[in-house]
Amino acid sequence: MNPSRLCMGTLTLSPLQKNVPAEEAARLMAYAYGSGINFFDTAELYSNYSFFKELWRLGVPRGDVIVSTKCYAYSKDTAERSLEKALREMDTDYIDIFLLHEQESIHTLRGHAEAIDTFWKYKEQGVIGSLGISTHYIAGVKAACTDERLHVIHPIINVAGIGIVDGTAQEMVLAMEEAKKQGKFLFAMKALGGGHLLKRYREALEFILGLKSIDALAVGMASEEEIDANVHAIIEGALPPGAVEKKRGIFIEPYCVGCGACVERCQQKALTLKDGVAVVDASRCVLCSYCVTACKDFFIKVL
Ligand code: SF4
Ligand code: SF4
Repeated sequence: MNPSRLCMGTLTLSPLQKNVPAEEAARLMAYAYGSGINFFDTAELYSNYSFFKELWRLGVPRGDVIVSTKCYAYSKDTAERSLEKALREMDTDYIDIFLLHEQESIHTLRGHAEAIDTFWKYKEQGVIGSLGISTHYIAGVKAACTDERLHVIHPIINVAGIGIVDGTAQEMVLAMEEAKKQGKFLFAMKALGGGHLLKRYREALEFILGLKSIDALAVGMASEEEIDANVHAIIEGALPPGAVEKKRGIFIEPYCVGCGACVERCQQKALTLKDGVAVVDASRCVLCSYCVTACKDFFIKVL
């Protein structure tokens, strides 16, 4: 089965962002499926595997859907725990794509060698379809090319290079082209720069859809209207004339105690401590929600 060019990202609906109930999220996913999307992206971090269980319950056939998830496993035990959790909570016998989340370079990959070996064993048994990585780093894309078992790469890429930690959009494109030559499957994230490029929606989509190295594009969608608009633009190729209005952002509660955990967690250096509380530089934030999981008191929200 071929994945649709448009992959529905489910972070937006998850407890880390809009916190939509599983039944409602699954209804939207079923709507997306009915609209031609058969590819869905999640992560252990997003705490939303129950969406998939509900999706099967709504009658969407498991065999008609490609599920990609990602986790932070680094050892045999953590890899087996992550896989078992995904299978159990999604109520499925297999995961189509399993990614190592947030890989930065050959060094981080080496630190995950035991997890890769373990996942590969399950790939050979048919419990995992394909292995790979997600990354905000050009060095991450290059690192994945050193291991032929890592067939899938989920890189951040957009016309402005927003969120690429170690270089420009052009450098990322070159790394992706090299990966493509090696036969990797690439599905891009953050084509709209976490919302920063909504005002340049058409240009951003023209850029991403023009990249020959990309097989699919993950986009977070939280309403039928958004699904319709993205299907129209990305699957049917009818790009809208101009900007899209959608206000999203990060919100820090006044109760923040300034512990700095979120600041440490943000790869984009969008958070700093000022006068004892966390403050965000919205121009750097890509709405990835990693900081949300770092705040044990839930004082950060992405809305
Ligand atoms: S501030 Fe939070 S949501 Fe924004 S880029 Fe940093 S970690 Fe991601
Ligand atoms: S982790 Fe939470 S409490 Fe700590 S600085 Fe960030 S928002 Fe404030």
